[in-house]
Amino acid sequence: MAPRMSADAPEAAVLAVHGRRVEVACPYCGNAHSHSVEHLGTPERHAPGCGMFTSPQHRLTGYWIRTEGKTR
Ligand SMILES: [Zn+2]
Repeated sequence: MAPRMSADAPEAAVLAVHGRRVEVACPYCGNAHSHSVEHLGTPERHAPGCGMFTSPQHRLTGYWIRTEGKTR
């Protein structure tokens, strides 16, 4: 079965939130990446921070960042 793009991206665990700067644990490479999100409290899908080094499929799929309840 050929992989295809879908909304079923994995979720990245949120490690820290500094303003709109969010640090997540990457489900692809296991390292931490930091992203700046548009809206805190709303799930956002981002391309992996390691996108240059991961497969095109991972880059397309990305991961979800959920900041609900992570901010003060
Ligand atoms: Zn990564």
